Amino acid sequence: MRTPVSYLGRRLSPYVRVAMVVVLSALAVFTAVRIHSWNTFGERSRVMTLVNPWNPVSETGYTAKLTEVEDGYQMDRVCADALRRMLTDCRAAGRNALIADAYRSVDDQLVLHDAEVQRLVDGGMTPEAAEWQVSKVIAAAGRSEHEMGLAVDIVDADNPVTDETQAETPTSQWLRENAWRYGFILRYPPDAEEITGYSWHPWHYRYVGEDAAGNIQALGITLEEYLSLFYSDEAQVVYDKG
Ligand SMILES: [Zn+2]
Repeated sequence: MRTPVSYLGRRLSPYVRVAMVVVLSALAVFTAVRIHSWNTFGERSRVMTLVNPWNPVSETGYTAKLTEVEDGYQMDRVCADALRRMLTDCRAAGRNALIADAYRSVDDQLVLHDAEVQRLVDGGMTPEAAEWQVSKVIAAAGRSEHEMGLAVDIVDADNPVTDETQAETPTSQWLRENAWRYGFILRYPPDAEEITGYSWHPWHYRYVGEDAAGNIQALGITLEEYLSLFYSDEAQVVYDKG
């Protein structure tokens, strides 16, 4: 004879039982992912440091430990090998991958930002309008991930420009499919400007480690959203300043 499934002495309908199984399964998966995440990173890993228009590098305490990757371009030691492997495999797959920029000092960032503002002003724009337009594309000095040595701009040598046409290149397509395997994410995806602070940058990749990159790719979310899901302190920072 079957034992009826009951709760507080009452028999439960099949619908309630199915609902309970679904809820408990979802809870188990959520808990497993969370525990896996904590086990992997312990305290929030250094490579998960959030820098965006509302979180300057100076507030993170992050100091880049630099090493050259190629052609004089430097990255933090924590991700230099991963970037070398990614470029090697991308080129082995027949793509013409080229580093357009990697680590930048605060001064490099200032020069880059101000030169672009000046270019627009020279073209007839008011300084305020130029500042606003540039802010969507180029970080202000002190607020760029490039200053941590965790971000790299990669273009296709056959179309070596940092604009949206980069997305059509074979290099960009290979990176969008494979970068996560090396711990890199497409940091500024399309239609996420409200969250990341920047328009679509199909050339800008950020190192976050393989576990986080795999999760972010699978979930199709931004670094800001990933941090707010798994690290409540960081979520506070995002929402307070955003
Ligand atoms: Zn970049």
